Amino acid sequence: MDFAYTPEDVAFRDELTSWLDENLPKFLADWTVDDDPGGGRLAATDRLQERRRDWQRRLNDGNWAAINWPKDRSGRDATPAQNVIYAEEMARVRAPGIYNANGLWQIGPMIIAWGTEEQQERWLPGILSADVHWCQGFSEPQAGSDLANLRTTAIRDGDEYIINGQKIWISTAHFAKWGLFLFRTDPGAIERGAKHEGITAFIVDMETEGIECRPIRDITGEEMFNEVWFTDARIPAGDRLGDEGAGWQVAMGTLGRERVGTAGQAITMAADLRSMISTARAVNPDSLNDPDIRDRISRLFTEIELTKLLNYRALTKIIKGQKNWPEVPLAKLQWSYLAQALAELALDLIGPNGLIGKGSPDAVDGGSWTRSYSFQRYTTIGAGATEVQKNIIADRALFPRA
Ligand SMILES: Cc1cc2nc3c(=O)[nH]c(=O)nc-3n(C[C@H](O)[C@H](O)[C@H](O)COP(=O)(O)OP(=O)(O)OC[C@H]3O[C@@H](n4cnc5c(N)ncnc54)[C@H](O)[C@@H]3O)c2cc1C
Repeated sequence: MDFAYTPEDVAFRDELTSWLDENLPKFLADWTVDDDPGGGRLAATDRLQERRRDWQRRLNDGNWAAINWPKDRSGRDATPAQNVIYAEEMARVRAPGIYNANGLWQIGPMIIAWGTEEQQERWLPGILSADVHWCQGFSEPQAGSDLANLRTTAIRDGDEYIINGQKIWISTAHFAKWGLFLFRTDPGAIERGAKHEGITAFIVDMETEGIECRPIRDITGEEMFNEVWFTDARIPAGDRLGDEGAGWQVAMGTLGRERVGTAGQAITMAADLRSMISTARAVNPDSLNDPDIRDRISRLFTEIELTKLLNYRALTKIIKGQKNWPEVPLAKLQWSYLAQALAELALDLIGPNGLIGKGSPDAVDGGSWTRSYSFQRYTTIGAGATEVQKNIIADRALFPRA
């Protein structure tokens, strides 16, 4: 493991930290944290999205929104080490969320890799500037972990494709203007036993007639993901991304990229742990004398540090041109477990008031720990379900085939 950063990386960190020092306090002063601006949950969600839009715009003005994009597309061509530095610094200052996270990190790179010049000119600026929101539509009721089983069809008809079928769990689709979707252009491929073939990627205007978003209420009571129904929706053939039948490669090229996405999470989790301890000191100090809780705190602290080292090992392998395997699925497993263990610890530290949710004057820290307890359940299913990750590790690392 090599902890040394190059002079370019050090300069990258310095430039980022001074930009953050100058710009983040101004932003926070403009947007005081106010969970209830009046007008109920919808107004709160709108306000949150506006806050995110503004933060992304400021990042973009400083050329810090899309560090992975090429320089001639307003990016910085960031190296893997610079990605880690970026994640660490953003976590250190607890930077606000951005409006088009999916667009900047997943969809934009796919458009850059697979889009024509005209498509790049058309869609990339709006992702960057946060003028319009983007969503990503892959999952279907029978196609989650087994994504290649997707069955929503896109059938060519002259200069258009006609779309029929159903997507599910599509985050923010109800307020997205555009979405990157995978559809099946060869419906016979599954029956032929070639389910990875005959899938095609499309950029979809979510205002197209024949598309209906039905928000799903999740365990936190919020409605952020959707069923998306397509009934004879017609989309222009020119909005296809890549060749017909190349959808699996389009999707996997980016999803499978060597990422060190959990790099900043260890810092965020360590900060969360410290913050829940100070909350406990204020509202339920006796909990900190409980030997079981003290044991859990020290274990979690140690495991967070180990996760950070696991990320550094993955990074070192990438820099040396080696495959960062099996660190990436291990880090995903570790992050899912830690996120839930921390959320559980928070409620045990807070005590009975931890049961009081957002909106009540008696909620501790605005009910954020209570919400987190429910919300973090997603970590063992989203971005690669735990059982599937374990299967992959067992197949490839523990019992590799000759
Ligand atoms: C908060 C959240 C946001 C999301 N946003 C989006 C989005 O914006 N766009 C999008 O396309 N999708 C989105 N998803 C969907 C997500 O990608 C899927 O939930 C995920 O791929 C798992 O698929 P599934 O829900 O169909 O579960 P399944 O794949 O059906 O899994 C159900 C259970 O079975 C287990 N299992 C599955 N296969 C195996 C196996 N081979 N061996 C052992 N166990 C197995 C899993 O581990 C899991 O416990 C989101 C999900 C969440 C939770």
